[in-house]
Amino acid sequence: MPDNKKVRRRPRKQKKSVQLKVFALGGLGEIGKNMYVFQYGDDILVVDAGLMFPDEEMLGIDFVIPDISYLEENREKIKGIIITHGHEDHIGALPFVLPRLNVPVYGTRLTLGMVRHKLQEAVPDYNANFVEVKAGEEAGLGSFNVQFVSVCHSIPDGVGLVIQTPQGCIVHTGDFKLDPTPIDGRLTDYAAFAEAGKKGVLLMLSDSTNAEKKGFTSSEFIIGGTLDRIFRLHRNKRIIIAAFASNLHRVQQVVDAASRFNRKVAFVGRSMINYVALARELGYLSADDKMIIPAADVYKYAPNQVVVMTTGSQGEPFSGLVLMSKGEHKQIELSARDVVAIFASPVPGNEKLVSSTINRLFACGCEVIYEGDKEIHVSGHAARDELRLMINLVRPKYFVPIHGEYRHLVRHTQIAQEMGISPKNTFVLQNGDVLAISGTRAQVREHVAAGRIMVDGVAMGELEGSIMKERHELAEDGFIVVSAVVDKYLNLLSIPYIESRGFIHIEDASSLHEDLLAAIKRVFEHFAKRKRAVEKDVLELRVKSRVRDVVRRRYVHARPMILPIITMVEERPEK
Ligand SMILES: [Zn+2]
Ligand SMILES: [Zn+2]
Repeated sequence: MPDNKKVRRRPRKQKKSVQLKVFALGGLGEIGKNMYVFQYGDDILVVDAGLMFPDEEMLGIDFVIPDISYLEENREKIKGIIITHGHEDHIGALPFVLPRLNVPVYGTRLTLGMVRHKLQEAVPDYNANFVEVKAGEEAGLGSFNVQFVSVCHSIPDGVGLVIQTPQGCIVHTGDFKLDPTPIDGRLTDYAAFAEAGKKGVLLMLSDSTNAEKKGFTSSEFIIGGTLDRIFRLHRNKRIIIAAFASNLHRVQQVVDAASRFNRKVAFVGRSMINYVALARELGYLSADDKMIIPAADVYKYAPNQVVVMTTGSQGEPFSGLVLMSKGEHKQIELSARDVVAIFASPVPGNEKLVSSTINRLFACGCEVIYEGDKEIHVSGHAARDELRLMINLVRPKYFVPIHGEYRHLVRHTQIAQEMGISPKNTFVLQNGDVLAISGTRAQVREHVAAGRIMVDGVAMGELEGSIMKERHELAEDGFIVVSAVVDKYLNLLSIPYIESRGFIHIEDASSLHEDLLAAIKRVFEHFAKRKRAVEKDVLELRVKSRVRDVVRRRYVHARPMILPIITMVEERPEK
């Protein structure tokens, strides 16, 4: 529900002749790495910065993020990045994007909580500038005035956007559905969308994920009924439930069912534990302390006294459920006394992983409840009738389907045309296509770079991963070797050794080496101060990324291969 509306700043008045440019750096023709850009004159507004998980051909790649070279070149124009909600396909690229752009990030409380957590893990040194907003509020970002509109989705606290620009109003739905009975009572704010529609909307960008699905997407509420049936039917068994950790409404319903049936809840899996802790801290999940037990204590309870809520609904290797199914989980051993329910359908591409997990679960002797059994999953995205309704509320002049594979974008465009939007005013864009709108014309003439950046490893700067690339670097770009010896407290035991070849003149080498040395020392000091065990891999990645930063500051085009060798000595040698 909208509350205390406040206007931070009115949009600046500018001449009408300036074009409004709209394009995506990711999210079109794919489900993942969403990043939409709005530019008016010298003001740029970015919406979302997501990642995509790789397909099978990208061996050895952890994930893919948008190419932000356009944004890097125009950094000083960017007024901020608005994050619509906390899913990976909307926030996952921030650890890479944010330190490079260094602009404020706008989002709701839970969304920013998730972003903060992500940044702390990946780039702990980076100090982000967060601006917390609530649905119903507005914020002025240069020529743009952005109103945040509550939308329902498979994660709490999502927003759509109504953006006023000097050329007219833009509606960006965010990921949404029109759930009439959301678990937290926070409805999609139809009135705000309708109000924008009444005043006149120039351009609408809308979620296309379920543009092929008929009717309405069911309410998350029905999951509660399914849970009740499972709890009643399997009164004497231990119940193991797998679901997306970020679907906190579903987690809430499991907690509620457990409380009704007098069972304790144990959370298993890193992301499950993290999300639950964050959501409880920020007030997005209510669960009595007395109900929650650590996974290590599960064995102390009779099967009918406990529910285990775990990650692994997508068959992810090393997730809680997968380890259990392999008999490799340290705390939970499955048997015929267990019933396992997977409350999610496999994301396209994960079918095989999920299927083999189910096979292994049956092999453990458990009863397994999964997709195909009714009402075990509902989508977080609007189906065709909801998309129709949304277009009807907003009534835009121009329509651009977003967030979908090409087929979804085309289907969504057809819906828009059925709703009376002129075919010449609907645009199926690809990433990088710039839709320029001025006065009464909208057209695609320009393109910006919008490729895929493969990320291999967790540290900043680890953007090129393949062996071919390494060989290429070695052959053309030279190399730097950094060798350091540290004790287990990460104190340097000698001055690190640095050797470089093939990319700078020997005269420059000594001053570069001095800078590198200082940067490397700072890395170790940073970790030493935290007084926590650090994996050697993490240290090496960090050293590598710092060395790369230093080199690139001096030689913009240098891409040497960087080889950190860190030796950790158990005890300080006797002097
Ligand atoms: Zn989403
Ligand atoms: Zn999404």
